[in-house]
Amino acid sequence: MSRFIFSADGHITEPPTIFLDGLPASMKHLAIHSEKRDDYLCTVSGEKVIFRLRMRPGAGGGDALSMRGPDAPPARKALGANNIEGRLKDMKDEGIDAEIVFPSLGLWTYALEDADVEAATTQVYNDWNNGFFSGHTNTFVRCAILPVRDLSNAVSELKRIAVMGFTAAMLPSITMAGIPAYNDPAWDPVFAAAAELGIAFVLHTGTGAETVVVERGPGAAVINYTRQMCDGQNAIMALVAGGVLDRNPKAKVAVIESGASWLGALAERMDEVYLAHAVFVRPRLSRMPSEIIRAQVKCSFQYDRACIMARAVTGHEALMWGSDYPHAEGTFPHTPAVLGKLFDGIDISEREKADILGGNAARLFRLPRPEFAVAA
Ligand code: MN
Repeated sequence: MSRFIFSADGHITEPPTIFLDGLPASMKHLAIHSEKRDDYLCTVSGEKVIFRLRMRPGAGGGDALSMRGPDAPPARKALGANNIEGRLKDMKDEGIDAEIVFPSLGLWTYALEDADVEAATTQVYNDWNNGFFSGHTNTFVRCAILPVRDLSNAVSELKRIAVMGFTAAMLPSITMAGIPAYNDPAWDPVFAAAAELGIAFVLHTGTGAETVVVERGPGAAVINYTRQMCDGQNAIMALVAGGVLDRNPKAKVAVIESGASWLGALAERMDEVYLAHAVFVRPRLSRMPSEIIRAQVKCSFQYDRACIMARAVTGHEALMWGSDYPHAEGTFPHTPAVLGKLFDGIDISEREKADILGGNAARLFRLPRPEFAVAA
């Protein structure tokens, strides 16, 4: 029996001049774009260097991850980083039926400090994305980027993208300096609007970070990338404890590419604290933290088998597999090998496996196929 596989983590590479071309003349000098500087590919906005990547010949499709095993075929270049035809071909080879697609350049939107430039940038991306995937929306879920420097812009953009049929929208994983933290009631109108419009929020790892290179000492790479899962935890902790999710019970949040096994630990620890320190707790919540998490929070993972073993705490509905195509740290081109081992030694029903590999994400992001229709 072939199972429906939905990847809850994929990226499209936008045209390199998308923002240079799309922003109004008065904002072009701040357009996010990449340029080669010596051995580095630098992503910049005006004078600001947002991100620097050392260019290595032949990089991509890394083989170092042990989950892939010694029998995995050698890496090959992804065909569909920036086009649908190649993407569909790679998906077929990988056994992936559908996916949600996040930006590449657009991931750096939250480095823009001017609210008007940020809002214009999100509109350029969202309009391009809408056109790019039109005609393929039963295979690709479009994910908008929301502006957050002025939260009224987030509400306006939610309304605009809902008209285009978007079912997912990105918020930063880290609330940058200058915007409200996720326990601030200032977020309520944004979460109320998304709930009303049936748009799920996505917190993709790394978004909103000033830099991913925080640690530079021994173990820096492992520390910096492992720590990104803490951003997801912090965001969910704030959204739950501060009451934003409790007051907006139809709002849904998915934490992407941050692993998932922390979710059960967070839920139980928050319950414990909520009761043990009840005298200090405000706001009081109408539900226990774990109930809020179970009803409203989901996580994507690539290799995190611990989350499957801990699913009694979160509900298996919280778990969504994702490949992170076409990134080198993702499962491409070894997805079948990864999925073949994912459930080894774990006592789990076929139904739960199907939900984790596809159904949960397809329902959350309202993939327009009848088998995933959810009653409103
Ligand atoms: Mn990703």
